[in-house]
Order: sequence, then C-alpha cells, then structure tokens
Amino acid sequence: MSGTAKERTDEGRGISDREDGGETAAENAAQRGDTAAERLENGWFRVKIPLPYSLRYVNSYLIPEADGSWTLIDPGLNTAESRDIWLRELNRLGIRFRDIGRIVLTHQHPDHYGLAGWFQLQAGCPVLMTAEAGRYARRLWGSGSVFAAELTGWFRNHGMPEELLVQLGPHLASFRERVEPQPRLTDLEPGSRLDMGGESWQIIDAPGHAGGGVCLYSDASMTLIAGDQVLPRITPNISLIPGMQEDPDPLGSYLDSLRELSGLETRQVLPGHRDPFPDAGRRAMEIIAHHERRLEHLLGLLAEGPASAFDLCEREFGTHLRHNIHNLRFAMSETLAHLARLAKRGKAAVSGPAGGPWTYASA
Ligand SMILES: [Zn+2]
Repeated sequence: MSGTAKERTDEGRGISDREDGGETAAENAAQRGDTAAERLENGWFRVKIPLPYSLRYVNSYLIPEADGSWTLIDPGLNTAESRDIWLRELNRLGIRFRDIGRIVLTHQHPDHYGLAGWFQLQAGCPVLMTAEAGRYARRLWGSGSVFAAELTGWFRNHGMPEELLVQLGPHLASFRERVEPQPRLTDLEPGSRLDMGGESWQIIDAPGHAGGGVCLYSDASMTLIAGDQVLPRITPNISLIPGMQEDPDPLGSYLDSLRELSGLETRQVLPGHRDPFPDAGRRAMEIIAHHERRLEHLLGLLAEGPASAFDLCEREFGTHLRHNIHNLRFAMSETLAHLARLAKRGKAAVSGPAGGPWTYASA
C-alpha cells in the first residue's frame, strides 16, 4: 500500500493502522451484527464476540475433540453483551458449559482473556496461557497494581500534557471489570506441542504485540491460529510501556517474529480479528513493509528537529486523539516502540535528565 495509507487508532488494545482506506457504515454494521457461530471448513466454529471499541469484535474458536469435549480459544471481553451471545450460541450448538474441556489463550489482552475466568467458573476447566503472559496480566490487573501510576509518570516524562494524563488512571481502571473474575492459569509452554482437534500443534513464541503471546501451528492441516500477531487489513498495536525490561525493543521482536512466521506454509490463518485468510507469510511481509515505512516517516519528523515522543505522536497520528484517551494511549506507546527501534538501529537518541522530560533527536 502507498505511504498515504490512512492511519487511525482502532482496536481494543490500540492503534491499528488501516491499510485499505476504510469501510462503509453498512460493512461495519454487518460485521458487528453477525454474532452467530459460523462453521468453518474444518468443522470448528468461529464465534464473533463484540467489543465496545472501533475494532468491533474478537474471533473465538470452538474446536471439537474426540472425547466429545470442546477446546475454546480466546473467549472474548467480559461484557453483558458477550455473555449473552455465548449463552445463546452454546445453547444453539447444544454445547453445555461442562463440555468445555479447556480454554487456550493466545495472549492476555482483555478482548481475548477477559471472559476466561467466567467460563472457568462455570465449566471448571483449565485455562492455558504462557507464564509470561500471566505475569503481564497480574501486573496490569493484579491486586495492588501500580501500572496506571507508572504509565502516567512515564507519559509525563515523554511530554504528554496534564489534562490528558489525569484521564489515564480512570481509563485503565475501566478494564478491570472486563477481565474479572480472573482465571486460574495452567502454563502453556512456547516450543512445546499441544494436541487439539486431532492434530498436533506447535506452540510458537510470538512476541512484540503482547509479551508472552503465542501462535499455534499445525503442519498437518497447514493452519495457523494467529491471535493478533498477523491480522488481515489492519496491523496490531506494538507498544513500549514501563516494565518491559525483558523486551525493550518490542517492534524489533515483532519484526523478527513476523520473519519467523513468514517461513510457515499456511493454507488457513485464523486471526483474532477480521476474517480468516490463506497466506500468513505474504501478510507478514506486508506488515514488515508497513512498519519500515512508518520508521522512515518518523525519521523524517526527527530530521525537522528534536521533539518529545508526545509531539511526534501527534504529528504522526493527529491531534484528534486528544479526544480519545484509549486510542491516544496506544498511539503514544506505539510511537515509543518505533522510537526504540530507531534508537536500536542507531538512528535516533533520547536525551534529558533521569527524571524527565525527555526528547528525541536524529542520531
Ligand atoms: Zn492483542
């Protein structure tokens, strides 16, 4: 796509760059309205669970097992609307809660993880997620979480004005009820294999979008359960936020992960959002090219003179985001991820006193 591709914030966790110039209102309505479980060619069901964000819905997948139970992938965000849809669709499919044998989570973002605890309470089943993703979930929503204060202080040092900073705490707190009750977790091990639906699945470490995130791949059917790592038409948010000492260059990790995934032969990619598509490798390469264009653009902005990350964020994504703290948070943390990538490549440098404020300049 051209460098004039529209960029806007989208999704539950953030900014997603639209590359196709937008959808019509009718398309939006059709996407949101259709929440009936859809049978896929392989006999699985895909259920679209609505989201109160512009991303519209998350894809949940129900996988039939030989013993009559079902594996549930990424059940969705905990809202009254989501729960109603699940009750209706499970009833329609003749699946009882006790038939859900386990829940597998690709990552810990609220729109994938939020309903896992609610399901677990009723089904009594294990919830599988990586230990690293579990640590992120606890850091954000565990008791005594200080994440909101850390993020506020960090964005302040990166130039965000006070009238926006004061909105961050209440905004982050609003997610809590959408991820509770929180599930008891069973570790899912990247690098290991998991049997699901009569196939053996490779658990692939997929960092960058979510620390501890995974994709699942079966070479028998050449199917990739992609989570949010490779999405059609939109790009997942890549955030640098406080507490990422183990992955201080998430965009670098993400680009590496896309290169790894591009080596897989796929016939079907089942994404966390939007429609299934055939070719993971081709889409991964498109997303890499998209980020390289964005990095070039940011370098151009830096060439105009030193600036704070907030200033660069507004020049990149637009000042209208001041009216949407949810999307601004993701635009800001994505700008920081791009700046970290440029710094790692030796093309940008940050300066300022340890306690902030900090500015970026070309290196
Ligand atoms: Zn996600």
